[in-house]
Amino acid sequence: MLALNNVEVMYNEVILALKGITLEVAAGSCVAILGGNGAGKSTTLKAISATIVSEDGRVTGGTIALEGQRIDAVSPSDIVRRGMVHVMEGRRVLRHMTTEQNLVVGGHLAPGAADLRRRLDRVYEVIPQLAKLRTRTAGYLSGGEQQMLVIGRAMMARPKMILIDEPSLGLAPMMVDDVFALLARLKTEGVTMLVVEQNSRVALELADHGYVLENGRVVLEGTSKELASNEDVREFYLGMTAEGERKNYREVKHYRRRKRWLG
Ligand code: ATP
Repeated sequence: MLALNNVEVMYNEVILALKGITLEVAAGSCVAILGGNGAGKSTTLKAISATIVSEDGRVTGGTIALEGQRIDAVSPSDIVRRGMVHVMEGRRVLRHMTTEQNLVVGGHLAPGAADLRRRLDRVYEVIPQLAKLRTRTAGYLSGGEQQMLVIGRAMMARPKMILIDEPSLGLAPMMVDDVFALLARLKTEGVTMLVVEQNSRVALELADHGYVLENGRVVLEGTSKELASNEDVREFYLGMTAEGERKNYREVKHYRRRKRWLG
């Protein structure tokens, strides 16, 4: 469905943020991009959806193809027309509009009112929480509800593929589970997904395959199973030691340093 080959991205013509990213997402699968702050995860999604141009960024090398067709020189709206929607980080709802108005905006490519209605009904069926909130002002929804809303708004475009950036960010653990249950449902309906997440545990539970980015490069890739059992991923991204004990990132760093001193 999606193939990136040696993609380089530069911001402001000087900052090389991606230094040759190669990755693939098979149709109907879910792929996770993991990595720490500033690794280049969001930049990868913005390069694919062509929204990078709004931040003075540019794909300066490599190719991006959707269903075999190059998309690295097309506009963001053309990419939506080709069936790919980008759910950006930070739950960007239209705060002064209602839940339903937000959804209608997502359905602007619908060919007519009857089709738009069908799309709305479908979203309310898959995300019943939104049906109850249809007349509520989006700015007053909880973080989890807003995340559901931006996913619902993406569904209104009837995408073949969704790019989704940090869906768990800032959500209570129960809400994280609800959001990922929704993504799992979309996956069973055949929507292909590329998910950027710092919460590697939930991401690897959902995804079939994962890539770990560091400093604009892929440093590790594998099936979710392989990554979840990889010692480095467990320590750095899942925060666990070989004994299965949970650790936070500071402890892991300290633990690593100690291991180095001990040789
Ligand atoms: P985070 O989780 O912190 O968002 P990330 O892995 O998504 O991290 P990116 O946001 O893609 O990382 O950033 C990758 C690199 O590109 C960083 O060095 C960052 O400072 C730089 N960068 C990101 N956005 C811009 C921008 N608009 N202008 C200039 N540099 C940028």
